Amino acid sequence: MEKLKQPTYVTRAFLPPIEEYEKYLHTIWEKHWLTNNGELHKNLEKALTNYLGVKNVTLFVNGHSALDVAIKALKLKGEVITTPYTFVSTTHAIVTNNLKPVFCDIKMSDYTIDEEQIEKLITPKTSAIIAVHVYGYPCNVDQIAKIADKYNLKVIYDAAHAFGVNVNGVPIGNFGDVSMMSFHATKVFNTIEGGALLYKNDIYKREFELYKNFGITGQETVEAVGENAKMNEFQAAMGLVNLNYVDKEIEKRKKITDIYVDKLKKISGIKVIDIKFEGHNYAYFPILVDETKYGKTRNNLFEQLKQYNIFARKYFYPLTCDSQCFLEQYKNVLLPVARYVSDRILTLPIYGDLSEDIVLNICEIIEQN
Ligand SMILES: *Cc1c(COP(=O)(O)O)cnc(C)c1O
Repeated sequence: MEKLKQPTYVTRAFLPPIEEYEKYLHTIWEKHWLTNNGELHKNLEKALTNYLGVKNVTLFVNGHSALDVAIKALKLKGEVITTPYTFVSTTHAIVTNNLKPVFCDIKMSDYTIDEEQIEKLITPKTSAIIAVHVYGYPCNVDQIAKIADKYNLKVIYDAAHAFGVNVNGVPIGNFGDVSMMSFHATKVFNTIEGGALLYKNDIYKREFELYKNFGITGQETVEAVGENAKMNEFQAAMGLVNLNYVDKEIEKRKKITDIYVDKLKKISGIKVIDIKFEGHNYAYFPILVDETKYGKTRNNLFEQLKQYNIFARKYFYPLTCDSQCFLEQYKNVLLPVARYVSDRILTLPIYGDLSEDIVLNICEIIEQN
């Protein structure tokens, strides 16, 4: 195998044909309306409500702000049971709202929160469960709903990875009190930066709108301490164009996933997630490197791929609770599965336009070991 001439990164932002975006720029110039619930914003909200199959969608400037607003609007207090196996955004949103994250271990099967271990972490101070649909694989939403009902807890899903995912035909945004999606450039569907809250209960709408616009309810009234988390028209335009391409994008990712699974599952010490489900979005392709069988560590493989100009990612490593800013507080929390996985996980390049040849090259490098 020769080194690839061009670097291949773990992902590449989807960009539509430029003319299609340009068309929307003309409408922005005509209306002279750049942000604050413009026409494109309204259209995207409607289109996503349809596409994502959920009663309400509220758009945000990015996913993190959406999550932050969800926590504020739901008025959570005290402790929140959550996963350390996520992007720091999830933990940051909890901590910056003066809540204490109580870290729960994850499952070996799909790296989502281990619902069997949630109950023992509940205390009188617990107000919510904030779980993550990791790599687009859904949490055990039924079991989590049962626990939440029994203890009267709110449930927020970080569904940043789960655009377009369905669980047994039910769109993912219908679970929990509210779900956050991210439309960051690196996600399956992007609005450059962007995000949304998805929810069934209409009563949240007013609160979410309020908190994303400084808490303003009228020209002379500010009702709450909100923030500025509004999506602008340029982002909404990108979303309207990209929405026409997302089915195709997911289809292409499925093809790449099929190749990876086919080639990699037979390699000793390389574990791929062995769950097939209709309604997956193929957002990421993680492998777990078991050094005792593969003969090489995850870090060795990561470096080796780099030498061929292939840039995989250790995603998620470190665990959020082991990040420098939290380490002192949480280093003694027992999280055997999460720590095992985080030390061995490697996500491989995947995006619609990634060529089959490169995918095969990557498999070959991993196989030749
Ligand atoms: C991308 C991501 C976020 C944050 O979304 P932004 O739109 O980048 O703010 C939060 N959680 C997870 C799991 C993510 O992957």
